[in-house]
Amino acid sequence: GKSNVDIGGVLGMDIGGTLAKLVYFEKKEPPGGMVRTCSRDPLVTMKRNLSLGDLNTREQKEALMQFYTFMDTQEQFGKAGVRDEHLAYYSHELGGQLHFFRFETRLMDQAIELISSSTIHNSIKALGCTGGGAYKFEDFFQKRMGIRMLQMDEMASLVRGLQFCIANIPGECYAFEPEPVKGTGANGKGEEEPMASEQDTFRNMRMRHMSELREKVDYSHKVHRSRTELLQSYPALVVSIGSGVSILKVDGPAKFERVSGSSIGGGTYWGLCRLLTGATDYDDSLDLADQGESDRVDMLVGDIYGHGYNKFQLSSNTLASSFGKLVTKEDPREGVTNEDVSKALIVMVTMNIGQVAYLNAKLYDTRRIYFVGNFLRHNNISAQRLAYAIAYWSGGEMEALFFEHEGYLGALGAFLSSGY
Ligand code: ADP
Repeated sequence: GKSNVDIGGVLGMDIGGTLAKLVYFEKKEPPGGMVRTCSRDPLVTMKRNLSLGDLNTREQKEALMQFYTFMDTQEQFGKAGVRDEHLAYYSHELGGQLHFFRFETRLMDQAIELISSSTIHNSIKALGCTGGGAYKFEDFFQKRMGIRMLQMDEMASLVRGLQFCIANIPGECYAFEPEPVKGTGANGKGEEEPMASEQDTFRNMRMRHMSELREKVDYSHKVHRSRTELLQSYPALVVSIGSGVSILKVDGPAKFERVSGSSIGGGTYWGLCRLLTGATDYDDSLDLADQGESDRVDMLVGDIYGHGYNKFQLSSNTLASSFGKLVTKEDPREGVTNEDVSKALIVMVTMNIGQVAYLNAKLYDTRRIYFVGNFLRHNNISAQRLAYAIAYWSGGEMEALFFEHEGYLGALGAFLSSGY
């Protein structure tokens, strides 16, 4: 049965259509001795105090230890759950370590079975949860484990987590810069250009020389601005690429609206990839895509014209029709590998999202676009293309920014906002 301690306050969860994300907090001394920090953020102060005072009771301490041990024992989760060890972060603001853990939402039954068969749920009375699963699995959590979901708004949690990361985690937010010029003159060695948008007119000569954006750079260093300043630069567009896409316009710390969205998102890539290539492992399929040639699948301007469409400055390697080349052959599969298909799918989904993002940034006059969500996990192809496309279409006026904890912002926000 339920014990009288409650350690739910150390948790934050975000249960999405594809992935369930869990953030948990471990109060501890900083590596290398105590640093005194004081945060002006009341929620951070509250979370900082969390479990410090409560830890006074031996039962609370034991319950926490039991929980941390359970989470540490990775074998327990089989292949279903993954702890993103490399993202673990010691927060001086919070006075403890943040841990990040995820599993596929479709395995929720198994996850709950596993937790139910342990005793850890006995000391969790409630937990901050966001995403559709906070509603969908509410009864299930309550009935099977006696855990109450404290439902948090998905968008508010996302913005909360995003702002926490910018403000507190050095190097969290990054951009891409052009690689030093390789010396072959304008547009280098004929690399692909982003799909043409209506306004595609090479209006900025600088962009001609920007072959590809490859160098990852810490954003606050790049613009020589403090993270606080970055945090305060509004408005900004947030493009969350999960199973589907949500686009938010953020005007202040807690002032935002969902302005747009798209059903063509990460779920579209992975769903079609599974269907067309028989892939079973997500990360493997992305690695394979890295070796693919989308040109074997995509129709380029050059395939139609034999050369560029010069009147509108569309070079011969501009993408004209995603997967369009497959209609020009007797057998669409001929000479096409799974790697090529996976790559072309990523490019198709990415460029579509990039264009929707760019048009919304135009519409709402935002210079900065934050791209987040797990579609960008382990996925440099998309991040680099988005960075390049946004810079290219906007003539260098807009910038695409990315996060190390891209998929965990909602869960982090739910942890920070759950009021206990
Ligand atoms: P949601 O909240 O809708 O589940 P996420 O932000 O968690 O959205 O992103 C889900 C997307 O992340 C998937 O559609 C897929 O493109 C991508 N993804 C990244 N890693 C994985 C993985 N291990 N398994 C499945 N999809 C993954």
